[in-house]
Amino acid sequence: MKNNEIIQKLTRLYYMELYDGYTVKHLLLALVALFVLIWLFRFVWTFLKSKEVDYRHHVQCKNCGWSGTVEFEMKRCPRCGHQSFQKGK
Ligand SMILES: [Zn+2]
Repeated sequence: MKNNEIIQKLTRLYYMELYDGYTVKHLLLALVALFVLIWLFRFVWTFLKSKEVDYRHHVQCKNCGWSGTVEFEMKRCPRCGHQSFQKGK
C-alpha cells in the first residue's frame, strides 16, 4: 500500500460520519476539549493545594515531644492535649 492510499483512508476515516452528523473530527475535538478540561482541573487543584500549605505549619509539643504538621487553628497537642506548641522549622 502506498503512502497516499493510507493518507486517503485516514482522511476518509477522519470525515466519516459516526452518529447523527458527528464525525471522527468531532470526536477528536471532544477528546482534546476533555484533555484541556482535565489539565485545567489539575492546574486549579495544584493551585488550591499549594495555597493549603500556607495554612499548615510544623510544630512540636513542649510537653510530650510530639511533632507534626497541624492546621493553623489547632492549638492543642493531638497526643497529650497540652496547649504548649512550639513552632518548628
Ligand atoms: Zn503533647
